[in-house]
Amino acid sequence: MNRDKDLFEFDEEADTPDTLDKSRWTVLSVEDNPLFQQTLVHTLKNMLIQGHNIEVLTATNSEEARYIIEQRLDINIVFLDVVMETDDAGLQLVNVIRHTLNNPIIRIILLTGQPGQAPSRQVMERYDIDDYWIKTELREDNLFNTLNGNLKTWRRMEELRTAREGMENVVAASQAISRRHDALQFSQTVLDEIDRIIGISDGGIMSLELDDLVSNPTRSEIIVATGQFKYLIGQPIDVLNNDLMLRQIQRAIKYRKHQFHGYCSVLFFAHEQPESINYVIVVRSIVPLTEADIHLLKVFGENIFNGFANLALTENLNELAYKHRQTKIHNRNWLYKELSDSTYWDRASQIVLITLSNLSDITVTFGEEFTIELLKVVDKELTALPGVQALALISRDAFAILLDDDNEFTAETFNVFLKNKVDINGRDYNIIAKAVSSRLVSSLNRSPEQLLSQLESHLSRFKLSHSTSFHSVELDKGDLISEQLQLLNAFNRGLNNKEIKAFLQPKVDMQSGKLIGFEALARWFTPMGEMIPPDVFIPIAETSGLIEELDKTILLDCCHALKKLQSVGVTVPISFNVSSHELLLGGFANSILSLIQAEGVAPHQLDIEITETSAMVDYEQVSVVLKQFIDIGMDVSIDDFGTGFSSLSHITELAATTLKIDKSFIEYLGEKDASVHVVEMIIRIASRFGLKVIAEGVETELHRDKLLELGCFNAQGYFYARPMPIEEAIQWALRHQ
Ligand code: C2E
Ligand code: CA
Ligand code: CA
Repeated sequence: MNRDKDLFEFDEEADTPDTLDKSRWTVLSVEDNPLFQQTLVHTLKNMLIQGHNIEVLTATNSEEARYIIEQRLDINIVFLDVVMETDDAGLQLVNVIRHTLNNPIIRIILLTGQPGQAPSRQVMERYDIDDYWIKTELREDNLFNTLNGNLKTWRRMEELRTAREGMENVVAASQAISRRHDALQFSQTVLDEIDRIIGISDGGIMSLELDDLVSNPTRSEIIVATGQFKYLIGQPIDVLNNDLMLRQIQRAIKYRKHQFHGYCSVLFFAHEQPESINYVIVVRSIVPLTEADIHLLKVFGENIFNGFANLALTENLNELAYKHRQTKIHNRNWLYKELSDSTYWDRASQIVLITLSNLSDITVTFGEEFTIELLKVVDKELTALPGVQALALISRDAFAILLDDDNEFTAETFNVFLKNKVDINGRDYNIIAKAVSSRLVSSLNRSPEQLLSQLESHLSRFKLSHSTSFHSVELDKGDLISEQLQLLNAFNRGLNNKEIKAFLQPKVDMQSGKLIGFEALARWFTPMGEMIPPDVFIPIAETSGLIEELDKTILLDCCHALKKLQSVGVTVPISFNVSSHELLLGGFANSILSLIQAEGVAPHQLDIEITETSAMVDYEQVSVVLKQFIDIGMDVSIDDFGTGFSSLSHITELAATTLKIDKSFIEYLGEKDASVHVVEMIIRIASRFGLKVIAEGVETELHRDKLLELGCFNAQGYFYARPMPIEEAIQWALRHQ
């Protein structure tokens, strides 16, 4: 999109709008001498200043004058008699206007009967009094000059005021908009804010995705509308039976520029990245836009341009992360996200995994396109079954569905489903598949990952057998619980016996191969010499409340390692992992801070890692805590970024300095298109929001080269080094400085 200064095109046919268009001036005469007032009013009424007549209001004392000024906000000038009910009644009224009514803009011209009553210079300055005249000296010609000069001043001041107010509105509006994350909400806010900024909108229309720009530009649907256009939502733009509006829209699309017209302006936005998309905003106004309004709209336009760019990025990443690329069916990540919402376990009561048989053969025989069509058809058929709450394509050939309480998926259901011939690209086709089903009850106490992988192993066993195609399995809960209890006891003991310590894994700059930091990873060695992986004991530590103690142990190890590294001349930061449970404990930041202070370690030597999933659970509160760390100079990395079980779009609000690309995307770099897209997208998001980016799980040269090509320069992974004991890590550091 063209972002030159020359973004704005003015319709030549439009009248140049007059700034602060007014049809007449308003002057108030405050005077207790009726004769003088009559003469003044008479003279003023016959004057034409800057092409406008004057409306004259009168008051005979300061009380009355104050009332009128409070009521009539359009008064430009006050002629004010100094001596009225008291010697300084006029000056007191000035004080009221400037300080009590807080009106710095009204111009005040003081009048006195005699030179002796003239206000001093200081008084004139203090009250911002513009002019002072002795009544007898005020003739028609200098009255005209005085008025003319003062009205010019008024106009300049008013322009400044509205500009300032407008800018304040633009700032507020941009803030309001940056908090909106989905396109509909965002668009609605844009229209509302435009209304607020220029204050004269008669309603607006907003449309996104003008797909067929060239041949049929106005067929695109109106997604949001306000004011009198509300009823148009969902209809194409060309239903507008307003020539001016349609012409403006067409011009905007044709020239790809904003169009301003007195009564109807069109803002045009286009983005090429990540996908080509265009937006138009139509603003209708009852009175013509002033230059000041247009200026504000321009500034606002710049702000929403960025808003759209961010929106497009995050929406796209959500799409990539949660949907199967070719079919747009929700993927495994999405199902994890759904299942990690605990209310699901109450709402849905059954999970069924369905795997299509011989899908690879089908692809070989009928081609990729046919396979995609088949997946789409199965998706449609399954979705249509009664009681289906959620559906996902969890692997290349397997679907998972969740069903509600009232609709059991039985062997019969499945048989009917299989018997039904489906139409794929015009030919009848018999779906061949196997299914495994299980009850879904919270007491199963399994993570979504555990649940799916257990069901999948059942399914693959049934796949081999030629018996029935539907199996119902009982996931027993007894084993899991007693196993976990034993582990918890052992873990508790291990923590006290210092069986758990930090290993360090290097982070490197891939271009130079040099060390840039370490990540501390917990390792548990039982007295039997067995190494228990963190994936096993971290969940237990989290649920049993021991995670805080574990992480403090690791953080202490980090502090000791930092000091040892420093003593051999290596000064790189170490990152440590925390879970969101801890972050939300009151006083977490303080307890970390006092721990590292006691150890003599500075905050900038540390980097706190929190997974995206847990950060997003309660991102508003988590953000507050993370910000405290950033404020004292610590880095904050969002771990496993891209798997985002919750809304990725909140990343803009999350306080962070670094995004850590999840290893699952690196794994398939160079193999799966979607991985490249996600990685690209994350790199783009990072650069847009000024965040650093690092890839984890870099295992091969190919990974490294791909990442460098995409513009990600920092990494961590087995290709460089595995996590190792602190002493070893120090030696590694010395070799890779
Ligand atoms: P994480 O924070 O995402 O840590 C990265 C994991 O990737 C580590 O697994 C690391 O050993 C592994 N890894 C590093 N390079 C590669 C590679 O090239 N390929 C592959 N496939 N894996 C690689 P680890 O040590 O098993 O830790 C697992 C998770 O446990 C960590 O994931 C982290 O979330 C958690 N964790 C580990 N230590 C702590 C800790 O002290 N406190 C907390 N709260 N969580 C921890
Ligand atoms: Ca980590
Ligand atoms: Ca990670």
